[in-house]
Amino acid sequence: MKLDVEALRNLSKDDFRVLTAVEMGMRNHEIVPSELIHRIASLKHGGTYKVLKNLLKHKLLHHDSSKYDGFRLTYLGYDFLAIKTMVNRGVFVAVGRQIGVGKESDIFEVAREDGTVLAMKLHRLGRVSFRAVKSKRDYLKHRSSYNWLYLSRLAALKEFAFMKALEEHGFPVPNAVDCNRHCVIMSLVQGYPLVQVKQLQNPEVVFDTIIGLVVRLAEHGLIHCDFNEFNIMIDDDEKVTMIDFPQMVSVSHHNAQMYFDRDVECILKFFSKRFNLTFEYSVDTDCTEVDTDASGRPCLSSIAKDAVFLDKELAASGFTRKDQEYIEKFIEGGIEKNISDGDDEIKDDVDISDLNEENIKGIKSVHLQDQIEPTLEGDGEVDGTDKQQNVE
Ligand code: ADP
Ligand code: MG
Repeated sequence: MKLDVEALRNLSKDDFRVLTAVEMGMRNHEIVPSELIHRIASLKHGGTYKVLKNLLKHKLLHHDSSKYDGFRLTYLGYDFLAIKTMVNRGVFVAVGRQIGVGKESDIFEVAREDGTVLAMKLHRLGRVSFRAVKSKRDYLKHRSSYNWLYLSRLAALKEFAFMKALEEHGFPVPNAVDCNRHCVIMSLVQGYPLVQVKQLQNPEVVFDTIIGLVVRLAEHGLIHCDFNEFNIMIDDDEKVTMIDFPQMVSVSHHNAQMYFDRDVECILKFFSKRFNLTFEYSVDTDCTEVDTDASGRPCLSSIAKDAVFLDKELAASGFTRKDQEYIEKFIEGGIEKNISDGDDEIKDDVDISDLNEENIKGIKSVHLQDQIEPTLEGDGEVDGTDKQQNVE
């Protein structure tokens, strides 16, 4: 997706105020009525409609007049809100090239004022899964785009919370710097995803390190659930860093054994194919008493029996058990009821009189703190194909 930050530089306070008003309205409207946007934004000198037109021109909003005249945020609009907040917080000053396109994310380089380069992951939950799930599941047909923004935000919060907690426990993960909306800022990992590595000096050592990580995660009550050559980075010294945490589950999950075995299996398969390692063992699930069975297979039930859970560290980042249960349901395609059961829920279809002073004040202080104009200096051009920006 093209991230034209030049446009961001040119957006005015009023533009951001209206964009934020749309975000606010999306808490309880799939398409936010123009009139409501006008009233939430309450621009001092009027002109909401002109601003809306400008935001539309920059593809930050999507216009929908099928039922009534209204707008919703596009992913790009959501990106801009998150980026603006990060810039205002002084987290970074420039956005650079795109360095990764994940299944459900776009990753860019961003630069701090002192020139340090960090990685910015913009979550796009629903980009793939939505289509996959939608084809199978009728009940998602009427879900609003807000739900996907909400899920992306939850995925980002989860990733941030896990990265921070794992880092505190000495796991080789990127340094979690900050998180806002669907955006996570972390240190840039040197090296490449393992999938790009054709040769290793010490494949056995790297393999042991990686399997050791799966085991240590389980000892901390966790299963990565997407532990494979795409989510393991390796540098020139063959140092391993693991990334990508939104799908992690607890060892108490009812499918824990299956997820654990799948993670181990992925690594076994990759190392045997790519580096011709031979293993005496393959994954099996019926071991009980010891950490590894007679042939050396890692065994979840015994590894995890004294697991030290990271709940406290996770909660410190604002990620709750409820959030975890909620996102797990989504990942398994099991959300059957209204997604806006989350904390952000506002009663269905309230009108402007229900958006109380507190909320409006909240917007002003949290999102429209506009004293600092954005000073993005990136060239604004990034590689990458134009992807679907939002889910219809
Ligand atoms: P997804 O959840 O969409 O798979 P990932 O977190 O796995 O997203 O990131 C996708 C790709 O982006 C990775 O395979 C990697 O190449 C790159 N990447 C992600 N995070 C970083 C980082 N902190 N530093 C360097 N590259 C990264
Ligand atoms: Mg990944």
